[in-house]
Amino acid sequence: MDSRGHGLDREYVKAGQDHEHIDSFFSRSLGHEHPFPTLDHAATTPVCIIGGGLAGLTTALGLAERGVKNPVVLEANRIGWGASGRNGGFISLGYSLGPVDLIKKVGEGQAKELYGLTASAMELIRERIRGVEGEICNTAEGILRISWFDEEREVKEYVEMMERIFEDKLEFWPREKIREHYLTDRYYDAYLKPRGLLTHCLKFTCHMGKLAADLGAGIYEKSPVLRVQRVNDQWQVSTPQGSVLADQIVYCCSGYIRGLHRKLSNATLPVATYVLLTEPLGDRMHDAVRLPIGATDTRTSSNYYWPLPDGRLLWGGRVSMFHPSQEKLKQIMVKDLLHVYPQLKGIKAEVAWGGYMGYSRHKMPQIGKLEDGLWYCQGFGGHGMCSTTAGGEVVSAAIADGDETYRLFEPFGLNYAGKPFGPAVAQGAYWLFQTQDKIRELRKNR
Ligand SMILES: Cc1cc2nc3c(=O)[nH]c(=O)nc-3n(C[C@H](O)[C@H](O)[C@H](O)COP(=O)(O)OP(=O)(O)OC[C@H]3O[C@@H](n4cnc5c(N)ncnc54)[C@H](O)[C@@H]3O)c2cc1C
Repeated sequence: MDSRGHGLDREYVKAGQDHEHIDSFFSRSLGHEHPFPTLDHAATTPVCIIGGGLAGLTTALGLAERGVKNPVVLEANRIGWGASGRNGGFISLGYSLGPVDLIKKVGEGQAKELYGLTASAMELIRERIRGVEGEICNTAEGILRISWFDEEREVKEYVEMMERIFEDKLEFWPREKIREHYLTDRYYDAYLKPRGLLTHCLKFTCHMGKLAADLGAGIYEKSPVLRVQRVNDQWQVSTPQGSVLADQIVYCCSGYIRGLHRKLSNATLPVATYVLLTEPLGDRMHDAVRLPIGATDTRTSSNYYWPLPDGRLLWGGRVSMFHPSQEKLKQIMVKDLLHVYPQLKGIKAEVAWGGYMGYSRHKMPQIGKLEDGLWYCQGFGGHGMCSTTAGGEVVSAAIADGDETYRLFEPFGLNYAGKPFGPAVAQGAYWLFQTQDKIRELRKNR
């Protein structure tokens, strides 16, 4: 199907989806919900956004803030149903492609500009959550990235480089300090990202939806887009019960795009990853983790976690091709946790869940224009909590004001992601990374 018409098989959309949030810590603790209607009529709008995750909602919010009247968001399931409402909740600067590789790809100047977009996004996020921080965020700020390897000099050099090139002031933490707070002999030195935030990602995503709706965006849930077709110089978007006639379209479907648009779909690798919630650990938490902030390690196949105020531990990591069963997943995730903190042997899992991240081959978001009136903002991978706001800003500024900042993403195109073998390639890459981490550990940690 060419760009005149993009479609999704109707039965495929219906199959296996009840449209509700999956069972997770976040859906269990969402509390008051503000459901949005299903599209059941013919609407018109200057801009129709497909996908109600953070990329779609922040684009709608950015448009509404710039004076675009009534942008429409169509979400197949619930707002935040995808990765945005089920992730680890770590909000930090940057992209899935790390700063050093970003410089290698585009040079220092452009890397700094791209990184700067996420620094501005972080400030915007703080503004947007003002007044509801207590409900949405962990009160302790900062995220630690702890070295799994005995590489003190490399950690210090990284901290120095981040300040010199990216003006990002990280704080070096020596291993002695780490070992006071994290009772494991797996860890070495670390750096603190003081601007990092931990959030209840589903509340955070719903809040972005509410802000957009308050400014006039029309948000529709349980409204899967089945087809997008050119009608003269506009676009006709069809859902099972309604339709939208739009001047411009923004695709924000990420790892859940399936076959809606062939080129975008072929450029997207859906990679599954997982989170575990433990039972309340009581005093046992103190035997392992003594800081209430987020922590992650430096392995390519890393874990990341934070203790909730009620003593449960939220623990994320792994990628795979297939979703294991809930019971199997709990076992796998607890085993990973015990690899770092064997003293917690015997703890029980409350719930474990997974979701798909949309990855591109180059690990940068895919942001740009397919043709006049047809935009995309997707592929934020495993680092989308902050960068989706950056994406929403550049796309909405392009549409509303003709701003060309989005062109900074041009070096990262819509490369073919290897379908149908992509997931197998991703799984293979993960195993390779695990092996490389192991070899590095044996070489460095004596
Ligand atoms: C388990 C997990 C842990 C993670 N942890 C972190 C973390 O701690 N920090 C971090 O920065 N990032 C993390 N990420 C990544 C982050 O969640 C994503 O990068 C980000 O949420 C992507 O947002 P999005 O809007 O692009 O995609 P999504 O949130 O996946 O939204 C896409 C939406 O499009 C909808 N859609 C698809 N097709 C259609 C259609 N035909 N019609 C209508 N709607 C459609 C889907 O239903 C979905 O809701 C994690 C991801 C996962 C899965």
